Amino acid sequence: MNERQEPVHAMGRVLPEDRYNEELVANVHPPDWRNPEPAEGYHLVVLGAGTAGLVTAAGAAGIGAKVALVERHLLGGDCLNVGCVPSKCLIRSSRVVFDIREADRYGVNAPAGYGADFPGVMERMRRLRARISGHDSVRRFSSLGVDVFLGEARFAGPDAVEVGGKRLRFSKAVIATGARAAVPPVEGLREAGFHTNESVFSLTELPRRFLVFGAGPIGCEMAQAFRRFGSEVTIIERAPQFLTREDPDAAAIVSGAFLRDGIDVRLNTVVTGVTAAGTEKRVHLRRADGFEDGIVADEILIGAGRVPNVEGLNLEGAGVAYDPRKGVEVDDFLRTANPRIYAAGDVCQAHKFTHTADAAARIVIQNALFRGRKRYSALTIPWCTYTDPEIAHVGMYERDALERGIPVDTFVREMKEVDRAVADGEEEGFVKVHVRKGTDKILGATIVARHAGEMINEISLAMVGGIGLGALGGVIHPYPTQAEAIKQVGDLYNRTRLTPFVRKLLAWWLKWAA
Ligand SMILES: Cc1cc2nc3c(=O)[nH]c(=O)nc-3n(C[C@H](O)[C@H](O)[C@H](O)COP(=O)(O)OP(=O)(O)OC[C@H]3O[C@@H](n4cnc5c(N)ncnc54)[C@H](O)[C@@H]3O)c2cc1C
Repeated sequence: MNERQEPVHAMGRVLPEDRYNEELVANVHPPDWRNPEPAEGYHLVVLGAGTAGLVTAAGAAGIGAKVALVERHLLGGDCLNVGCVPSKCLIRSSRVVFDIREADRYGVNAPAGYGADFPGVMERMRRLRARISGHDSVRRFSSLGVDVFLGEARFAGPDAVEVGGKRLRFSKAVIATGARAAVPPVEGLREAGFHTNESVFSLTELPRRFLVFGAGPIGCEMAQAFRRFGSEVTIIERAPQFLTREDPDAAAIVSGAFLRDGIDVRLNTVVTGVTAAGTEKRVHLRRADGFEDGIVADEILIGAGRVPNVEGLNLEGAGVAYDPRKGVEVDDFLRTANPRIYAAGDVCQAHKFTHTADAAARIVIQNALFRGRKRYSALTIPWCTYTDPEIAHVGMYERDALERGIPVDTFVREMKEVDRAVADGEEEGFVKVHVRKGTDKILGATIVARHAGEMINEISLAMVGGIGLGALGGVIHPYPTQAEAIKQVGDLYNRTRLTPFVRKLLAWWLKWAA
């Protein structure tokens, strides 16, 4: 391990070295790649080729800017290689196992001896990841006119970056170096060994006992998937709630689903130490009430938050202010303390998602190259945790509105009241929409449903387009769909407009017109 807590051998390599990972590496870090001779100067130098870096580079090159893109490991960053893509492939396989387990609820006999073939699940993931990687390939970015440099980027002053002994001079630069798993300082953890998102997708054997530190989105998604593959899973969380940021009603539904899946959930619990005993890891726990306990695991996954990649960049030499925990400091225009240098993505944003990295990159292109004044705070940001059921959210939670002194009305439709959800046997969850009190202006919404991530887009669209909840009640949704729950929340709002006075008027009109 180096000071970035990464296995050094992983730079430019992906394990296991099978044909799919070979294809992946050939796309996103070709071993025979020769860095180009730097141009005299670049309009834009991009440090890091994850989502934020790739979107910035492709967008800027597409409008004719001279762009250099520097990546030390794999183009595509976390999302493609060790984040969204592999995790969602695993989740899909885990849902198949669940659906077979539940088959008798649908009048279908489950095949005898069904179960996940873990090596097969992982191979499927590697195959699909390799297929998707063409989009983020060195070849594709070179063909877009981007000068791609593979190597460690480091500022050589306020207007130049160094990579592999070459100097790239820039008018503007973008720091898009992302983040990595935060590893808690637990005694014995390093000696015993652990996985983060950087290594867990290289597993080829299913761990019998799998312990997850942290019930955030990554921990919850992987805990449920591994449990469905057949591991005995324990999830340890210091807080009294899962997914602490989420609506407590939403988190409670997922918590119930985890219990039914047979996940051992330990809330209000901290890990005090780990001791290695042969291939086993003995994990020592302490509950908030002082009760001490222990668990034995074969593999440990750390999902306890993310820290920004700010080390080794010589940010001081470039005049860029940063905080080792929060990342590069940017203003609302995503500009750092050095007005030539911008930042985008996990290295500077509290919302650490691929779609926010993408949105930030688009802001940077406009602000850095065209003196735009696009503000990050103007974005409407949805997100989704892909547990089963999923939790998706956009805008404010009720507590956010109340903290800002905005009074709210909340409208809720339970999925069990939605015909399609009943027919699908997917009744768990709800659509909850908060509006400014006395109006239909949508402030935020939470959806818990099997496909909540797809459903939330309708509400995001309404918020971006300034469409009120009342209007959503008037939008025809095909029957039967689960998204009808959103229209029905709109209907609930519209019914509140039927005040006693309006009722009286209607009664009067009907009497008169009859
Ligand atoms: C397990 C997991 C699942 C996730 N699932 C989802 C999901 O479902 N949906 C979602 O929206 N988000 C998800 N995310 C979050 C998402 O992956 C990140 O928000 C996104 O990748 C951020 O993009 P980025 O460009 O800011 O950073 P990254 O993707 O981290 O890219 C940064 C790049 O910079 C490179 N780099 C760093 N330092 C240097 C340097 N000095 N020189 C050169 N290169 C450097 C790194 O090697 C890396 O390739 C998930 C994350 C994880 C870990």
